[in-house]
Amino acid sequence: MKKFWKWIGIILGSLILAVVLTGLFLYNKYIGFVDYPSGGILSENQAKYDVVFYDLDLTVNSTEKSIAGFVTIKLTSLADGLDKIELDLFEHLIVQETEMNGVQQKFTRDKDKLWINLNKPLRAGEVIDFKIVYHGQPMEAKLPPWRGGFNWSKDANGDDWIGVSCEGEGAKIWFPCKDHPSDEPDSVAVHITIPEPYYCASNGLLRSITFPKSGFKTFNWVTNYPINNYNVNISIAKYDLVTRQYTTDRNTTMPVVFYVLPQNRSKADELINMAVDMLTVYRKYFGEYPFANEKFGLAETDYLGMEHQTLNAYGNKFSYDIISGNKFDQLMLHEMGHEWWGNKVTANDWADTWIHEGICTYGESLYHLDKTGENGYHEYMQSIKRRIKNRKPIIIKRNANTSESYHMDVYSKGAYLLHSLRYMLGDSLFFKTIKEFAMDSAYTYRNRVVTADFITLVKKNSPVDYTKFIHNFLYTTELPEIYLRKTGEGTYEVSIKNIDYELPMEVKTDQGDSRILLGVNPIFIRSTIEPIIDQKDWYLKNIKKEN
Ligand SMILES: [Zn+2]
Repeated sequence: MKKFWKWIGIILGSLILAVVLTGLFLYNKYIGFVDYPSGGILSENQAKYDVVFYDLDLTVNSTEKSIAGFVTIKLTSLADGLDKIELDLFEHLIVQETEMNGVQQKFTRDKDKLWINLNKPLRAGEVIDFKIVYHGQPMEAKLPPWRGGFNWSKDANGDDWIGVSCEGEGAKIWFPCKDHPSDEPDSVAVHITIPEPYYCASNGLLRSITFPKSGFKTFNWVTNYPINNYNVNISIAKYDLVTRQYTTDRNTTMPVVFYVLPQNRSKADELINMAVDMLTVYRKYFGEYPFANEKFGLAETDYLGMEHQTLNAYGNKFSYDIISGNKFDQLMLHEMGHEWWGNKVTANDWADTWIHEGICTYGESLYHLDKTGENGYHEYMQSIKRRIKNRKPIIIKRNANTSESYHMDVYSKGAYLLHSLRYMLGDSLFFKTIKEFAMDSAYTYRNRVVTADFITLVKKNSPVDYTKFIHNFLYTTELPEIYLRKTGEGTYEVSIKNIDYELPMEVKTDQGDSRILLGVNPIFIRSTIEPIIDQKDWYLKNIKKEN
């Protein structure tokens, strides 16, 4: 009997431990807490300069899990008398020296800050280059990509498989930078030195492979598009390269390249063919692939995924989903969408993460619309709706850092805003608006956006001003409260009591579907059946019925 209770104790104890560990895992995975968040209020010093270019020159050593080399930063001073440059750099990386035009500059460290004291103050508009020589062990990933860093993994053959992900932490975990979403460099170059048998994939185009010393190769990549610092990426393995050509709207070709582990080579063709098809679908809605002068890249990684510009991380293990009979890779579809939403159209403040994640997630449903029609579109939107928690607003505060702004509703509820707007504006105005947001130079590449830009654009294109609806949707958890009351035999009244504007809603009666404007003043409806309000779920809403 004693033994029996002992086993019961062990089983119960194990169950409790499993529940606690799963809870911790999910908390870490989904709440978005990061050790070194990125963004927030831009400091006084960092507001006084604009980064133009980063050039990384690093040797990666997997045995020591370290990097060593230097970064050259070109910046423009935005103020007269700027005599210090404040940069961000992971505290455990060691700076050896900083220099400008061959002259050493003094520097100080303060945790994750690196201050360079310039020998001579800068004038507004003055452009300088300086070099920071450093080395050490960059942060290791704890739960990539949500809690990022370096992955020092091995593939199935026991070979090195190195990745970096740092959306939450920013690039400071591996190179000195101005770690703020409001400042993208115009271009970035990387020179990565690694042992001979390995391949280093990175952003943009491969300029050269050189052989600096016996047994080593240096990969020199360059991207000539503005890029978020967290998107600057290296992925290293004994990759096989599988390539296709994508034909642009202008009839030029662009390589689509999958850097795949050799053991998964046989699975690569199906995925890369799907990638080319997805690119052609996205461009129908959002305009041409944004980095068509360079490439669309996918690198197989030991973490789920990340939207690294022109080098999306792919760790979905070739597992496919099906919507309305169409087979697709959910992870690749999502990360590819970020090339428009996040990489081309970039939020200036992490408060507006929904512009990256919400519009990108909505874009997935447009892929389904194209492949499978309205049925697939609505099936997919229902799956997104099931993920909405609506416990806190999509935008919590302005000048937010990544820990403050990131939660799962920025994806699902963010996507639902676009879904509702599709109904409110109607297809022609809605698709025009979303394409304009993706293509107008005021919102793209060097110009970053905030939520107010989106609201202004919708207002410009819509005959009805929906600003209050959008504002309420993003900044509160309030939903339209719809009241449906039977007033007599075959008569009903409908109203939305908590809004002071009108929303168009689909109302189904015995006469079929009609589009009716609903607001605080009751609308009277005759129907032999009880009216069904918004059956297709264009809105998130609460319905209260009174008899
Ligand atoms: Zn995403």
